[in-house]
This record gives sequence, C-alpha cells and structure tokens, in this order.
Amino acid sequence: MSSWIFAYDAFEPAEEGLREALCTLGNGYFATRGAAPEAAADDVHYPGTYLAGGFNRLTSSVAGRAVENEDLVNWPNWLPLTFAPDAGDWLDLRQAEVLEYRQQLDLKTGELTRRFQFRDREGRETAVVQRRIVHMLQPHLAALRCDITPLNWGGRLAVRTALDGRVKNTGVARYRSLAHQHLVPLLEEQVAPDTLLLKVESSQSQIRVAQAARTRVYHDDTLQEPRRRLEQEPGWIAQRFTLQAAQGKTITVEKVVALFTSRDQAISECGLEARRMAARPGRYLELARTQRLAWRQLWRRFDIEVQLRTYTSSDHMMQVMRLYMFQLLQTVSPNSRDLDAGVPARGLHGEAYRGHIFWDELFIFPVLNFRIPEVTRSLLHYRYRRLGEARYAAREAGYAGAMFPWQSGSDGREESQAMHLNPKSGRWIADNSSLQRHVNLAIAYNVWQYFQATHDREFLAYYGAELLLEIARFFGTICTYNEKLQRYEIRGVMGPDEYHEAYPDSETPGLNNNSYTNVMVVWTLQRALEVLDLLPEARRRDLAELLDLKPEELKRWAAITRLMRVVFHTDGIISQFEGYEELLEFDWEGYRAKYGDIQRLDRILEAEGDSPNRYKLSKQADVLMLFYLLTPEELRGILEGLGYPVDPDCTAKNIDYYCRRTSHGSTLSRVVHSWVMTRYDREASWQHFLGALESDVADVQGGTTPEGIHTGAMAGTVDLIQRAYTGIQLSQDVLWLSPRLPAEIASLTVNVVYRGFALRLTVDAAQMVVKAEHSNARAIRIGVAGEVCTLKGGDTRVFHRPT
Ligand code: BGC
Repeated sequence: MSSWIFAYDAFEPAEEGLREALCTLGNGYFATRGAAPEAAADDVHYPGTYLAGGFNRLTSSVAGRAVENEDLVNWPNWLPLTFAPDAGDWLDLRQAEVLEYRQQLDLKTGELTRRFQFRDREGRETAVVQRRIVHMLQPHLAALRCDITPLNWGGRLAVRTALDGRVKNTGVARYRSLAHQHLVPLLEEQVAPDTLLLKVESSQSQIRVAQAARTRVYHDDTLQEPRRRLEQEPGWIAQRFTLQAAQGKTITVEKVVALFTSRDQAISECGLEARRMAARPGRYLELARTQRLAWRQLWRRFDIEVQLRTYTSSDHMMQVMRLYMFQLLQTVSPNSRDLDAGVPARGLHGEAYRGHIFWDELFIFPVLNFRIPEVTRSLLHYRYRRLGEARYAAREAGYAGAMFPWQSGSDGREESQAMHLNPKSGRWIADNSSLQRHVNLAIAYNVWQYFQATHDREFLAYYGAELLLEIARFFGTICTYNEKLQRYEIRGVMGPDEYHEAYPDSETPGLNNNSYTNVMVVWTLQRALEVLDLLPEARRRDLAELLDLKPEELKRWAAITRLMRVVFHTDGIISQFEGYEELLEFDWEGYRAKYGDIQRLDRILEAEGDSPNRYKLSKQADVLMLFYLLTPEELRGILEGLGYPVDPDCTAKNIDYYCRRTSHGSTLSRVVHSWVMTRYDREASWQHFLGALESDVADVQGGTTPEGIHTGAMAGTVDLIQRAYTGIQLSQDVLWLSPRLPAEIASLTVNVVYRGFALRLTVDAAQMVVKAEHSNARAIRIGVAGEVCTLKGGDTRVFHRPT
C-alpha cells in the first residue's frame, strides 16, 4: 500500500462518521466532509461544509437558563448527486447488496475517490466511480464527477443534482438539544439550463453564502442535453433528468460548484460571483490536473521522510503523518493568507468545540513557521485584530493590558460555554475552563517563535510587539504581591490540566499559583522587556507613548521576573499548583479495572458524584508543558533567577512524577509527553509518539474524531519528527540542531524554511547533513553541539555522529 493513499475497502455504516472526518476535502477557505454525495444527515452520514471564520450565534435554553453559543456554521451541502436505475430506488448502499467497495483519499493529489459495485432489489448490477476535489489553487471551486456503468442492465437512469441549504448544525450529539438552525434561505434559482444557484444567510452574523452548481452529463465524452426538471423549496434546489443507459456504457455526470460569501474580497456580490465562476471551468479532469499541481507544490515544502528500521511500519507511519499534514493543510493553507480566521482546534472537519480557536495554535504554528510563515503571520493577525476586544475583557475583569479568551470565534470575545453536558451522567455542569489565562502565554510565545523563525522585523514592530506588551501588561496586573512571602502570585486561574478547576469542596473556581502559568509569565515578561530593545527607536517611542508604558511598569515586570512564586513539593517536584501535594492519590488500577478506558476521568468521576479536584491526576501535560516549551537551560535560568535551587535531576523527576498521574484525556498530552521524553527516555518518547500518531486515525478517544479532527495533535505529532527528533531550537538568532533519534528511526529528512532559507536536513545514526538551497538571503547561523557556524545559499554541512 502506498503511503500516499489512505483507503478503506468495505462499506461500514458504523465507521462512516470517522471516515467522513478523515476524508474531508478542503483548502483553508472551506472544507467539506467526505460524506457520500447521495447522503443526507442521518444516523450514519453527516455531510458538513464549513468556512474558515464562518460563525453564527444562537441562544438556547439550558437547564432553565438562556445560553448563547457561537458555532462554526454548517453551510449548504453542495454534494448531492444521486441516481436511480429504471424507476428503482435512489442510491442507498444500506439497501443494496454491495459487491465491491473502495474509498480512497489520495494525499498526493487531494482527490477523494469512491468506487463500488452494487446489486439492487431487482438484481440490477451497477458500477460507480465518484471522484471529488476541493480546489487548492482556486479556493472557491469544488468538483464532483460520477461515472455510472450498468453492468447487467440497460434502460432509463434518473439523475438528481442539488444544493441543500436545509442543513443544520446537528453533527455533535451532545449539542443537539441546543439551538442549531443557523441558516436562513434567501434564494433558489436556475441561472442557466445546467446551473443552479442557492443563497443563504446566517441568522445573526448575516454572512451570505452563495453556491452555484453546474451539472453536465457526458456519454463517451459527448455532452448530452437531457431535459431537466426543476425542484425547489426554501433552502433547496435540484434538477432531475432521465438518461438512456446502455449495458456496459458509462455515463459521466460532472458537477462543478463555485462558493462565494459576502465576506470575500474582489467581488461585487457573492451570488453573481458564484454564478460567473461556475460557468468558467472546463471538465473535471482539467480541474483535477491543476489540483494535482497545487498539491505537488505544497508537498515539496511540507513532506517529511522517515525510514524506520522495520520496513512495514514505516509505511503506516508515513501514511498517517502525511494524512495529518494533509488535513492540517486543508484547514490552513496559502489560501488562509488573506482571511480573517484562526485555526479551529477541530479543523474545518466537524462541529466539536463549535469550531472555536484555543491555545492549540501553540502546537500548530511550528509546522507552519518552518514552511509557510506568511500563513502564521496571517493567523497572528487574527489575534491582533482582536486586541481591542482582549483589552476590553481585561478591563472588565479589573486588569490592564489584553486578556485573550480561552475560546475565540468571530469577534474575539470569550466563547467558552458557561455549562457543558456530561454525556455519562446526563447533567449540565458549570464550565470554568475560561479561567485558562495561559492562552495568552501561548499567543506571546507564538509571536516570539514566529519572529525567531523569520526575523520579520516589520511584523514585530507593528503588530507582534504590541501583542506581547499588552499580554505582559495583563499578567503584570493579574499578579498580586504576597507581603508575607515577598513573592508575586497568580491566584484563581486554571492550568492546561482541565481536570482541576477549583480546590476540593470550594465554591470558588480557580487555583492558585499554577506553575506552568507562573513560569511562563516570567518568560513572557522577559520577552516583553527584550522586545522593546529590538524595536527601532522611533517605533519604540511611538509604542510606549501609545500604550502609556511608564518606567514604573517596566520595573514591576522586572521585579516579577525575579520574585514570582513557584510552588514545589517537599521533595522538590514542581507543584502543578499550590496545594496539589495535599490532594489524594488516585486509584489508577482500580479505575482501569472498573472502566477500561479512563481518559475522561472528569466525566467518570462526576457521574459517580465525585470530582477530579480531589485527586492527584491530570487530564494532560501541565507542569510538563514547561519542558515542552523551554529548554532545560531556559527553565533552569528562570527558576534560578527566581532564587529557587534547581536539582540536576529536575527534568527526570518531574517527568516521572507527572507521567504516572496523567490520563491523557486530551490528544495534546501524548505529544508533550513524547517531546519531553526525548531527552530522558527515547524508547518511552517513541511509544508516546506512536500513541499520538494513532489519535485521529484510530479515533483513540472513542468517538471524538467523527466530530472533527484534532489539529493540535496532528500538527504536534508531525512536529515531533520535525523538531523534537532533530532537536531544532531557536534562540539568540541561531538555529540549533541536536538530533535525538529514537532507536526505531533509521533516518529522517525534513525541509524547513528559516529566515528565508530553504534547508534540507537529513539525519541518521551516523551523521546529519544540512543543505541550504541557493538563496541570496543573508547568511544564517546554525549551531550544533555548542558550535555555531554560518550557512549561506548553496552550502552543505555534514556533522558526524549527531545522535
Ligand atoms: C484540551 C485543551 C484543548 C482543547 C481543544 C481540550 O480537550 O484540554 O487543552 O485546547 O481540547 O483542542
């Protein structure tokens, strides 16, 4: 099996949801789940089309309260294309005898193909090939081609093509009791004999979306002109026509769809534009050719090659890695450059987490920074444009600076739900996850990493510095000074581990002195002070004036970097938060024996009338995030700078302690654990890597992937190969490399872009080769084993025994 082909060989209704998510096609502008063209939403299928930034807000009644939610809207389904042989039933594989079936996603070309043969109730056998693309180069276009061959019959064949705007947001079962009707139908019209136009509007955000579908039919490549019958109702428009089918002769139906919205640039009106653009493309194969070209170019930048010592597992690993990269690129791509959108944690692949944007960008941007940094820049602009809202949120909460929301959607206000449903107990529970102020640290970290990777001074001067300074200012005000301890503290927040929301039996949500937050605040304040020195004098002056930055404030930041409180256990382990050490040990074995899968201990314990707040357990890496984001030297530097002695075994001890207390209830967790283990136990790192690799492809959380992919885990897994195993680190204007290959990896090759240079790194057990493509950009500095050397366009360096 080629590692470029992701395929299924049987029709399994129970697996359809997962396959639809994993076979989604998209281009960063919009994406459509890999649902069958003949299907509508039911207990097996869930067609979904999502637009980057396409949100709408609705109010629902939950447990007697009015609750507002903003959702990534499921826009009209452009896929419907079906047929019925000779007055028989419309195609439904569940009602037919499936003789052959194969669905395959070609990761190299971005084409999804479904081939099958079936026998209907009348004994007619028909062969079908359905192909589709969502165009990467022409982001407003998608196309579907269906070849129908009667195998043992001839006669009439009815075909129906449609655009369906009656769809709702019902993709996630636990949200179904909430309001989910987002679309208001505006227009259904046949705009040319072969073209239908549908226009809808989202009820609150008033985004108009127009789809124009041109459907043509060919017999032996000869265009047919069947008589078409129009069917329409509000939100739905279809054409039906009848063809003469002959045994063994293939009928080809091609549907080309143009999708535009009222938010698009360089158009007059979305309906008109959709209609104009649907008329222009040639045949399906021509669109598929340019689609292949677009993907070929993307893969040149994004592909990673890994050779494992065991050949067969290499194939599976490469296939999954490519699938993850592919799905990431369908969520954010060069087409995202001009959009006002962030990266939804669950892709454009489903409705989980309502399409919101969290801190997951922390795991995603490194993959983009090293390949398409111009896209990271645009994604950072998503945050910059919402700086005003973040300032307002900080002010409302009694702070200064900018407080970005834990969950972000259209306008940057806090979108975290106030209540969530525990499907295990059926209870609605208060949701305090918005106390995760650390999302701001992720934004600051992302700004800094982007700058390190690109040296984009203009971005730093006009956007990045302001983001950093305003986030620093927020943390400067959220810190309180504890006179008794003579330390700064941060009280009433949540760390990345969402299982702890409050102290046991406390009525007030929030925890004090989450170490991840406190240490990263020190890091952020240090960068904020540093960034001022990096700015050209005039800009520094303007910004300081604009933000009213006074020396006293900078002094306070500097004081915090020396006196922030970090709580340790009595044996020197970094406490996840103040008081963690006093919590009860959890009965891991007992719960494993009782429940089997204990990833979601929050749900299990709540259903038992208990709470994770009482125990030493974590959903995901929290303290260990420090070892993920910072090098041991950086972490030691910060802790020593705060006056805390650092045990030489600090990393090993903390890893060991928290590994034993983590349930990996978030797919991000294994990525972090694998990363931190590279320095400490490469075999364990590899095992976590393999676990992370299975996250979506095997739907390890048992049902979450059908509701949307996990973009953070997908990118984070690729990044393990890219950065963790090559040891890429950016600091002091140097690209540091220190490969740490697990024993299973024989060699790996990655292409990265660093400050305008395209570099190819090849690492095996004996050597590392760094090759710079020809470029007239300024020479860069790379560091290996403590030695720094310069590299210019065309140079190749070989380093022996790198691991
Ligand atoms: C994780 C968060 C993550 C979110 C979105 C949650 O389950 O705990 O860390 O940001 O999912 O992926």
